Amino acid sequence: MDGTFNENDLSRVVEADRAHIWHHLIQHKPFETNDPRIIVEGKGMRVWDQKGKEHLDAVSGGVWTVNVGYGRESICKAVYDQLMKLCYFANTAGSIPGSNFAEMLIDKMPGMSRVYYTNSGSEANEKAFKMIRQIAHKKYGGKKTKILYRDRDYHGSTLATMSAGGQDERTAQYGPFAPDFVRVPHCMEYRKHELDGAPVENFGEWAADQIEEVILREGPDTVGALCLEPVTAGGGVIEAPEGYWQRVQEICKKYDVLLHIDEVVCGVGRTGTWFGYQQYGIKPDFVTMAKGVASGYAAIACMVTTEEVFDMFKEDASDPMGYFRDISTFGGCTAGPAAAIENMRIIEDENLLQNCTDMGDRMMGNLQALMEKHKVIGDVRGKGLFLGAELVADRGSKEPVDEKLAQAVVADCMAQGVIIGVTNRSIPSRNNTLCFSPALIATADDIDQITDAVDGALGRVFG
Ligand code: PLP
Repeated sequence: MDGTFNENDLSRVVEADRAHIWHHLIQHKPFETNDPRIIVEGKGMRVWDQKGKEHLDAVSGGVWTVNVGYGRESICKAVYDQLMKLCYFANTAGSIPGSNFAEMLIDKMPGMSRVYYTNSGSEANEKAFKMIRQIAHKKYGGKKTKILYRDRDYHGSTLATMSAGGQDERTAQYGPFAPDFVRVPHCMEYRKHELDGAPVENFGEWAADQIEEVILREGPDTVGALCLEPVTAGGGVIEAPEGYWQRVQEICKKYDVLLHIDEVVCGVGRTGTWFGYQQYGIKPDFVTMAKGVASGYAAIACMVTTEEVFDMFKEDASDPMGYFRDISTFGGCTAGPAAAIENMRIIEDENLLQNCTDMGDRMMGNLQALMEKHKVIGDVRGKGLFLGAELVADRGSKEPVDEKLAQAVVADCMAQGVIIGVTNRSIPSRNNTLCFSPALIATADDIDQITDAVDGALGRVFG
């Protein structure tokens, strides 16, 4: 192998992959007999694999990322031009695309004011956690270091973000974790029967009140922040119930708890507004984002905060430890903001937020029709083009289906040329939620092709 193989030598690519690549989130044993899948090309909503097979991508690159679709020449050109002009300088200095994108972004986020660039969702969340901890030291004499996170939410793959990890399937065997991260119960209406004492009515307010109970148990003077996904992604595509967010905000205000909203999935259009939190009238102190920021054309993530938070780090310039003593090397790579600017322009010029809402409504309607037809679908939920259909063995008990059956549905769709996802298994409550997050450019035909494939797959797998 000389490392020069290309798309004309795809069997060599497969061989090298099998010999040397350690894929994400995958058990490799099956690759001893099966070929790993290589994605060779993408255009619009579609990708082609090493066998030349075309797939309609209903998961935007697998993990909710390619919001504006594949093969966008204008983004590639913007990145090329920027890299030729200046590829990199540490973000201790500024850059033209860095300033431009920050201004565009803040324009979409009334109430927010400062952008901290980094590379991944996990890192963006860690930056917020570090700021929250530093505020605890600067403002509260080392108290208020606790960060609350929610059952079923996910915030990243690093040890600190796993310490805030609400999905046990992801965290098991990786402990011990960082101290002072405390779990609060989930707010999933469909599975409220799993929560002791959950009421039939006003579940949203009750679920938020559970957070207050945790704050009171831990001691309000020890709790610095609450970190939540606006719509829980991998934990089951869960939108909070009516009444939840308003109560969450009241609680944060009452106990002086900072609100950190993790928009790594929802951010930049996925739910039909620029940010998921804007659907619910939330006023966050920190917002983190990654996947859709540049739709995967460059690695960029942002941690955005308010001027009030920012001021705490500059008010005492005589304190040598008083500023945010943090760096992310590639937070200074200019390809990220150059791609992000163009990505945002495309969303605006092509009216993709509206398309996301319209196509999301169409897909929701199609999924509801499938629910009428297939009793294995226990619930359909989500917002915009961020939807899920939970599979249950029995609608009364809500007992989840065997996960192998959920995976068989995904495999059947794949055989039909449609890539869908299934959310992470979460121990002890397995979700088995089919997951749909097509690019925001999806047409009515694309949406119908996806749900038709699911219809066929459910028929074959469950009869
Ligand atoms: N937060 C949420 C809600 C996510 O879904 C993810 C990744 O899927 C992350 C954070 C971590 O992002 P990354 O994989 O870019 O580190």
